[in-house]
Amino acid sequence: MSTMVLRPTSPAEVQEAVRAHRRILPRGGGSKPALSTPHQGQTVLDMTGLTGVLEYDPGEYVFVARAGTRLAEVEALLAQHGQYLPFDPPFVAQGATLGGAVAAGLSGPLRQRYGGVRDFILGVQFVDGTGQLVRGGGKVVKNAAGFDLPKLMVGSLGRLGVLTEVAFKVFPFPKATATLQVDFPSLAEALEALYRLLGSVIELYALDLVPPDTLVLRLGGLPEALPARLRRLEEFLGRPAQPITGSLEAAYWKDQNDLNRLGEGCLVKVPLSPKRIPALEEALQGVPRRYLSGGQLLYLAWSGPLQALDGLLKRQGLPGLVLRGVVEKPLIGLNLEQAFARKVTAALDPEGRFQPYAAQN
Ligand SMILES: Cc1cc2nc3c(=O)[nH]c(=O)nc-3n(C[C@H](O)[C@H](O)[C@H](O)COP(=O)(O)OP(=O)(O)OC[C@H]3O[C@@H](n4cnc5c(N)ncnc54)[C@H](O)[C@@H]3O)c2cc1C
Repeated sequence: MSTMVLRPTSPAEVQEAVRAHRRILPRGGGSKPALSTPHQGQTVLDMTGLTGVLEYDPGEYVFVARAGTRLAEVEALLAQHGQYLPFDPPFVAQGATLGGAVAAGLSGPLRQRYGGVRDFILGVQFVDGTGQLVRGGGKVVKNAAGFDLPKLMVGSLGRLGVLTEVAFKVFPFPKATATLQVDFPSLAEALEALYRLLGSVIELYALDLVPPDTLVLRLGGLPEALPARLRRLEEFLGRPAQPITGSLEAAYWKDQNDLNRLGEGCLVKVPLSPKRIPALEEALQGVPRRYLSGGQLLYLAWSGPLQALDGLLKRQGLPGLVLRGVVEKPLIGLNLEQAFARKVTAALDPEGRFQPYAAQN
């Protein structure tokens, strides 16, 4: 199959490409191949030519950049001012772009502290399926006007339009961080501790469950206060904890940001709530997996036939998004598509230039 690849370098070139081609697949850094590998007849819009930070005022905690800008570049710039993207998008070292992170709606362990992509996006500019350049939201933190297009673009997987620009609010990164790894005698006890933590006033930057029964917690704050806070956390949990500090700590979380390290096979994201974990754990034994963000997100590496995972998720009433692997439809499990989503899609892409992702139930 020969695929045409275009590499626009301006929003006007994206408009031209969308108007000129019948089927379009936007691609950022290609770090989530299940979402960016073209199907028959699709023209790929390689967005890595549309880069650059357009505005960044550290004092305002806001920045605006072209959608093809690499997250690594964004993070390096923010770090110079002690700031970061709190939704902690994965695959930074693999070349993931800002637009790809928004369209896939992906967040990582640090999301625990402040929230996911949709909690930080302020504005978007994109080209819809008719080739129109659309703007939504703004770059001011208080933005009351109009329809919330920026949030609709989060998790839209390129089906509503090709993102050309995004505006984000950012946050200061803590002056110091430390991590505790705590093993529990059983999953039930690990989950009991997780619920207690979620119900407490303890502020955690990350709260991950590593099956079968280990919690990994990240604290952030002032360096002089951290040792005492770590001790109090250990007391709260009532279990001996293994601390990870200093450069090892930063390296640990950097590694976690590369979800490919989970293992071979299809890499799948499952949004859930912690009450789903016991039933999932029974079904997923032997599957490399990790629950992030207080049990709100599961990432797993699936080596069997994808149909089996699709069925498993459907039975559990959960949706899944395939990020890596060869797939016809990356949205598996429970189909969340509602009448509202169909209406939005019909309004923004009336001719069906962008790819539908979910198989019908
Ligand atoms: C037009 C359109 C059509 C779509 N069609 C489908 C479809 O057919 N099938 C499908 O599976 N998906 C579809 N999606 C994607 C789907 O809406 C999301 O991917 C899915 O809801 C998971 O959310 P997310 O990826 O944004 O996850 P995240 O933002 O990463 O959220 C992960 C989990 O955390 C929860 N969460 C988010 N914010 C908070 C918060 N502040 N506090 C506590 N919990 C929070 C979420 O509810 C979710 O359970 C569609 C999206 C769009 C825009």
